[in-house]
Amino acid sequence: MTGIGILGANGRMGRVLIEAAHLDSDINLVAAAVREGSQWIGMDAGELAGISKQNLKITASLEPNTTQIDAVIDFTLPDVIEQNLAWCVANKKAIVIGTTGLNDKQKESLERAATSIPIVFAANYSVGVNLMLNLVRQAAKTMGDTADIEILEAHHRFKKDAPSGTAMAIGEAIADEVGRDLNQCAVYGREGDTGERKHETIGFATVRAGDVVGEHTALFADIGERLEITHKASSRLTFAKGAVTAAKWLVGKPAGLYSMQDVLELN
Ligand code: NAD
Repeated sequence: MTGIGILGANGRMGRVLIEAAHLDSDINLVAAAVREGSQWIGMDAGELAGISKQNLKITASLEPNTTQIDAVIDFTLPDVIEQNLAWCVANKKAIVIGTTGLNDKQKESLERAATSIPIVFAANYSVGVNLMLNLVRQAAKTMGDTADIEILEAHHRFKKDAPSGTAMAIGEAIADEVGRDLNQCAVYGREGDTGERKHETIGFATVRAGDVVGEHTALFADIGERLEITHKASSRLTFAKGAVTAAKWLVGKPAGLYSMQDVLELN
């Protein structure tokens, strides 16, 4: 049995993580934490998630159950990621991170922490998107020199970062394959007289609307044909189950920064 502590338990992802932990007979959910002062503290984790009672109270930190935790799962917000990493380093806990929109300083903290604890960090924990990262590389290898490359993504109205971490991961995989620097060639939206499209650019388009769980398309368009590789998530449970799988895989691994592609052996 793997003991799991969830950070951000009251979030959209946190609630389905509680459900995914409950559905997995190899998982023992031992802590579910929210922000200090949150209205959910003291509530049963199962009731918060809308499933059966779990006999586990929501807490303001992972502290009460530190010794029972084998791995932490963090789907919170970028501004608390460094404090969460510091806790895992101090307590020698493996951590699976799903939080996206990290800035360069937060990414550096993640890399530093990975020198002393094992970490899985992925912008997307679904099997399909991780397979898509391989497929877009294949397409870029064959069509990247001639086709125009655009990445389209859509998410629900509550999402705070844009483009999505997954769209950026798709862009980085393609840029790496065609030998371009994404920082130099990315175009985030267009307006007014933009002139003709520059071939070497990789364009991003973002939609925010309603309750869209997450959709990503990589478009390789030439004169006369175009290839579209699309993934559509219809339930957050797919990300949560992937994160739980990653947590089980991570326990006992040496310190280091791992990806979901490592977990799924897609490398
Ligand atoms: P959300 O805003 O619903 O949930 C985040 C929760 O974290 C909030 O409830 C907030 O109160 C809580 N939180 C903040 N600070 C905390 C702290 N110090 N301790 C405990 N809890 C704290 O957002 P969401 O839709 O659940 O998404 C969370 C993150 O996960 C976002 O960055 C999102 O982009 C990302 N995400 C990643 C994947 C993936 O597969 N990697 C999938 C979906 C969402």
